Amino acid sequence: MSTATPAPAASTSSSTEALHQLDRQRIVHPYLPASTTERVVMTRGKASSLWDTDGREYLDATGGLWLAQVGHGRDELADVAASQMRELEYFTSFWEFSNQPAIELADRLVRLAPDEISKVYFTSGGSEGIEAALKMSRYHHYRRGKEEKTWILARERAYHGIAYGGGTASGFGMYHDGFGPMLPHVEHLTPPWPYRRDLFDGQDCTDFCIAELERTIERIGADNIAAMIGEPIMGVAGMVVPPDDYWPRVREVLRRNDILLILDEVVTAYGRIGSWFAAEHFNVDPDIIVTAKGITSGYFPLGAVLMSEDVAESLEADSGFPMGYTYNGHPTGCAVALANLHIIEHERLLARASEIGGYLLDKLSDELADLPRVGEVRGVGMMLGIELVADRDSREPLPNPQAVADAVRREHGVIVRDSAQGLVLSPALTLTRDEADRISAAIRAVLTTTHPDGT
Ligand code: PLP
Repeated sequence: MSTATPAPAASTSSSTEALHQLDRQRIVHPYLPASTTERVVMTRGKASSLWDTDGREYLDATGGLWLAQVGHGRDELADVAASQMRELEYFTSFWEFSNQPAIELADRLVRLAPDEISKVYFTSGGSEGIEAALKMSRYHHYRRGKEEKTWILARERAYHGIAYGGGTASGFGMYHDGFGPMLPHVEHLTPPWPYRRDLFDGQDCTDFCIAELERTIERIGADNIAAMIGEPIMGVAGMVVPPDDYWPRVREVLRRNDILLILDEVVTAYGRIGSWFAAEHFNVDPDIIVTAKGITSGYFPLGAVLMSEDVAESLEADSGFPMGYTYNGHPTGCAVALANLHIIEHERLLARASEIGGYLLDKLSDELADLPRVGEVRGVGMMLGIELVADRDSREPLPNPQAVADAVRREHGVIVRDSAQGLVLSPALTLTRDEADRISAAIRAVLTTTHPDGT
């Protein structure tokens, strides 16, 4: 037990200030400097609303962390979790052991996924799934006698979670700097980001990216490359939507060179962009699809890596795939996921994501178009990005988009998140038109105000 800091008297109290103080003392939050004193302690959620300890209501335009497909506070999911926990809360899925929710979920996922997908490997979340997928791609080639195929192609500005493999594949210096040697044999390519035209030397975005991909394969050697990994729409970068021909053309080059395609659908799967999988939307058939987040709408930490028969066959050869997580195929998580997918289907949330997401996109485009700090409004379904610029002609990024996101929350009670170059929105698929109006009005109000820090 720690004796360095005496437990504050506040620890027995649940007043807002006492909780804030205890939080500051005891919790290390991702991406939060110790100098930040502000805390928001949430106590309750319902649909797209959240309430904090002071009873203040917020509109959650971030969908938790891009995952609250069916919205907060669904009794159906709580009931399923409770009854599964009473029956069989957990048992391992290593070796020959299995459980009914995991079996049913795997079958459901394969039926929803693109035709090439035939098997599923469960995880507890996105980062674990990415690690599994990267290792699977190398192991697949290894089992086929091609152990030299170890290189991974990724993109600048990608986000693939924070473990060493996915963290290396992520294309931001902040996930690498200070962490010592990262995973070797990872190469970053140019992201297909049409608005950032300076990236493409005046060429067509897809033509440039494909030529660069071909050159890179030539340089490293197809015999040395295991896989290319990419988010169909780049989330953390700012909901960057590639041109329609990007993924099919990438796919063609990879197939020609016996390089696997891993789609990181941790955000895009399960209805967020109006389809079960972005692979469908972009008309591409990956070898491996990594999913998490929306599979349970965040009610339980769960992920699923979906793979083709070809990949599964090599992983399961000989002594099987030597990689397992304690929570592989967690029965409670899988039962919650099944119920969550049922709600998505039953309430037609795919169509709703397209309809209300399209409404919100139009609304934002109309209401923000004339503002000098708005470079571009873009997105698909309920995955929307607003690229903020200091200057519209030069497209120079606005230096501190986080200040805008903070102001939208503090001043209007709407929770949005900043991305590398703007704001990103990913509300529940159950969002209403009135809520979409409120999100747009709040962002416009902040962007039309000049804040002391110049935002
Ligand atoms: N991949 C993508 C595209 C993500 O956006 C995230 C998380 O936001 C991850 C992977 C990592 O998932 P997790 O945070 O569940 O580990």
